Amino acid sequence: EVDAIISAVGQRIDQIIINDLPKLEWTRWNTIGTGDVTMETSIEGVFAAGDAVSGPATVVEAIAGGKRAADAIDRYLSKKSPKIQAPVPPRSERVPLIETDADEKMTFPRASLPLLDHQLRRTSFQQVELEFSEESAKQEACRCLRCDICIRCQRCVEICRDEMGIGALEFGYMDTDQPRPTDFRVTREKCISCGACAANCPNDAIRIEDRDDDRLLMLCGTVLNRQRLLPCRSCGTAVGTAVYLDYIRNKIGTIGQIIHDRQLCEACARKENARKSVGHVLNI
Ligand code: SF4
Ligand code: SF4
Repeated sequence: EVDAIISAVGQRIDQIIINDLPKLEWTRWNTIGTGDVTMETSIEGVFAAGDAVSGPATVVEAIAGGKRAADAIDRYLSKKSPKIQAPVPPRSERVPLIETDADEKMTFPRASLPLLDHQLRRTSFQQVELEFSEESAKQEACRCLRCDICIRCQRCVEICRDEMGIGALEFGYMDTDQPRPTDFRVTREKCISCGACAANCPNDAIRIEDRDDDRLLMLCGTVLNRQRLLPCRSCGTAVGTAVYLDYIRNKIGTIGQIIHDRQLCEACARKENARKSVGHVLNI
């Protein structure tokens, strides 16, 4: 028998203990940092679980965390070795990417979940949060950053900024060494479609693709840049985009100059260069 039941949903962590436990480490989400399996905090012999560790989550997850912590405390007190994280099973297949334009990705608002009518909530046990419509679910899926594919290693950001000297990628959510707010739209303002980021991505998350007459740069389905390809005036093969040709003219001396000025692919530019050199030798 109880006098009152107060149902509550955890929203944020009360950091009241922060002054009493200065050695306690907190995550960037203001939750208590623990090992995934041991649930031990940065203070030896102090364990934590539940919303204080995971942030607002389900009761099931809180109970599971509590059980893991209880097991870890038992091991700690019995001086047994702590449990080791079970290996993560390899992915068997990749869910197809949803192609979304960078503008849409940045402006799609978060879909709000329809809720059960107030009157019905008082008189039934029906779930209060109802389901998305198919259209809202699809739009919400377009906002996904696909962190199952992009492992946020930041290699692409560093390559574009430090190796290519361009700095077209701004992914603040990747926690880079030079943080900036995430804006997928800035890429097209600076990107030269060189493909260096895609060539160095360890997980095929950022890709460059020639489609019809365009070259597309895509991050996990988000189209960051789309530029018109120029054909080689000799053989018709795509030579690259106008800004890319400008870039190589400035970077790669003679061949770069020929590729740019005559709009030739690399093979044709080399032939042209060789022809010119032979002509020059014969003239001598
Ligand atoms: S797109 Fe590739 S290189 Fe860039 S952060 Fe993601 S996994 Fe790393
Ligand atoms: S393709 Fe664009 S974003 Fe990628 S490295 Fe080149 S300039 Fe940077």
